Amino acid sequence: MNLFGLHGKSALVTGASSGIGKRVALAYAQAGAAVAIAARHHEPLQELAADIADGGGTAIPITCDVTQPESVDAMLNRVDHELGGIDIAVCNAGIINFDGLLDMRPEEFQKIQDTNVNGVFLTAQAAAKSMVARQRAGSIITTASMSGHIVNTPQQVGHYCASKAAVIHLTKAMAVEFAPHNIRVNSVSPGYILTELVEPYIAEYQALWEPKIPLGRLGRPEELVGIYVYLASDASSYMTGSDIVIDGGYTCW
Ligand code: NDP
Repeated sequence: MNLFGLHGKSALVTGASSGIGKRVALAYAQAGAAVAIAARHHEPLQELAADIADGGGTAIPITCDVTQPESVDAMLNRVDHELGGIDIAVCNAGIINFDGLLDMRPEEFQKIQDTNVNGVFLTAQAAAKSMVARQRAGSIITTASMSGHIVNTPQQVGHYCASKAAVIHLTKAMAVEFAPHNIRVNSVSPGYILTELVEPYIAEYQALWEPKIPLGRLGRPEELVGIYVYLASDASSYMTGSDIVIDGGYTCW
């Protein structure tokens, strides 16, 4: 099991204040990594950092807006300064809203791309620059979505689908470009997961989604952490440019 351990490594997780990112940060700390946890709002990060410290781990909360290059650079500077560099970066912050493409305002389309695509690019680029500067091998993991593979129904989320398809292919491009520096880049594509992101839509949509999922239910964020630990660890040392779908079978039929 030592292959899956993260002792001595430092990790950054964006979107760590809730949902998937929060569970990944907790798992990384349990696996032995020092973790920088980032989001726009500070208070939930402080609470998570305290939980991780109570469990004997190390976590530093960093307020960051991943759509802003200066904010991302400042985040990486803190990681470098306080954790001595970075080995693992999880580019996970993301947003959604339900809105059809026909009448969508350009600003609404752009807003989703700014966070879900630009935010992933800026975070991954800054992390890779730090790794290269310190000649450290690294693992970058992006959170894409099954929405990058299929078009969700009955809700209309074309702007989100476009953003996640972009993340999957951006991940492959980074995998090829960063490989000479011994930096691996992979994406995770979850299906419907019960987090704060989908909470506002559950009452109306859960009964419509579940019959489309072979396992018959939505996933829990805890059910994703295994793949994030694997991709961060030396157990996945020959894996780069891959996208892992974890969706209860949704995309099979
Ligand atoms: P949550 O809404 O629970 O968490 C989103 C996180 O992103 C929060 O910590 C939020 O904190 C942070 N965030 C949002 N915008 C920014 C920003 N501009 N800068 C920094 N942080 C930001 O969502 P999930 O955990 O469900 O989603 C995590 C990822 O998983 C997203 O990329 C999402 O698209 C993807 N995903 C989720 C699925 C699901 O069904 N839940 C399915 C497939 C993919 P704050 O508001 O404080 O900034």
